Amino acid sequence: MTEAARFGLGFIWVIASAIVGFVNKGRKIGFGRAFILSLILSPVAGICAYMLSTPKIETDVVSNDYYMCNQCGKVSPHKFHYCPNCGLDYLGRTKEQAEVESA
Ligand SMILES: [Zn+2]
Repeated sequence: MTEAARFGLGFIWVIASAIVGFVNKGRKIGFGRAFILSLILSPVAGICAYMLSTPKIETDVVSNDYYMCNQCGKVSPHKFHYCPNCGLDYLGRTKEQAEVESA
């Protein structure tokens, strides 16, 4: 194998590992572990990890670490009961309204 071919293969290996990592971002294994696994073993192993790992299922989660208000669409990195933007809960009530209704 020539030096260029070896370099090319290494380059493809890293790119493929990065892609596998990104694909695994929403999975339990996560980007970092999938990327490392792909680098050390092979991107094929990363694909296997993707197929074996369970997807994260949470109803109000937009992506890995963001929560979206279903009233105004504001995205927050923190889980909230009352939206920091519009102040409404998932039923469209303000804190005051919810307190009156539950009283
Ligand atoms: Zn909102």
